[in-house]
Amino acid sequence: MDSNTPPACAAARQVNAFTVDVEDYFHVAALSSAISRASWGSRELRVERNTERLMEILAERGVHATFFVLGWLAERAPALVRRITEAGHEVACHGYSHQLVYKQTPGEFREETVRAKHFLEDTVGHAVLGYRAASFSVTRQSLWALDVLIDLGFRYDSSIFPIHHDLYGIPGATPEPHRVSAPSGRTLAEFPMSAANFFGLQVPVSGGGYFRILPYWLTRAGLEQINHRRGRPFAFYLHPWELDPGQPRIKVGAFSRFRHYTNLSRCEARLRRVLGEFAFTSMYECLQQRGLLAADRATMRQLPPLAPPPLLPGRLPAG
Ligand SMILES: [Zn+2]
Repeated sequence: MDSNTPPACAAARQVNAFTVDVEDYFHVAALSSAISRASWGSRELRVERNTERLMEILAERGVHATFFVLGWLAERAPALVRRITEAGHEVACHGYSHQLVYKQTPGEFREETVRAKHFLEDTVGHAVLGYRAASFSVTRQSLWALDVLIDLGFRYDSSIFPIHHDLYGIPGATPEPHRVSAPSGRTLAEFPMSAANFFGLQVPVSGGGYFRILPYWLTRAGLEQINHRRGRPFAFYLHPWELDPGQPRIKVGAFSRFRHYTNLSRCEARLRRVLGEFAFTSMYECLQQRGLLAADRATMRQLPPLAPPPLLPGRLPAG
């Protein structure tokens, strides 16, 4: 056994974070070239029934998860946000407009994040503590976002992907949950997205398109490597639309089509397998178990929602 290998009993107890990015198919960056933001409000919302389905599957396994909810969507489906929290899951924040963080100014980012956080807190009645950026877009160019998150009272972030990618990623970033330093020197708990290492290549095996497209045996081998060989939990993620093979087909380029539509009809069966083979809980609980968040969630629930600074009318995109 090398010094990086934890004892087998510790590996067997590894509990991972199950997360859901709650948005609809038309919010996805891969389809944005063919779907204008102005059309969002006129499109059928499919996310409610898809999220309910996902919650049914999680309930079969008794798994409590973290749901990062898009603010734009929360304003249109507040009953869904309440259903998520009533089912015992953690509600966290996926920003407001699904715009990449590094394409916003710090002021724009702060303004839209306050709007999303405040609405979610009003809806669930307690503080919202976790944040995940659209398309994991906290990168080297947008580390300032961590300071904004700390200012707004978030206790953890899960937006950093330690891989090379065309849209996101900080290659070489710390891969396990840790306290990340913001440019100001203050720190925030960070649960990075997870990748396995196959023959020197970092392969993101823990959710989304990777989970649907890669063969399941490879996914399982990668997740086992992270849990057992590296001795750390992974952050699994899925979108409700990934369980919806009946969603409208959008005409986009071949690569985007491949990334978005491959294996939608197989995703539910794969999800059941991964839930049967690995242990999961919410991201908050996972970070707390590792000593990265001090107080328990019951205490956090008693905190009053933050009072937001006044919004400047007209600056946010119309829904
Ligand atoms: Zn998203």
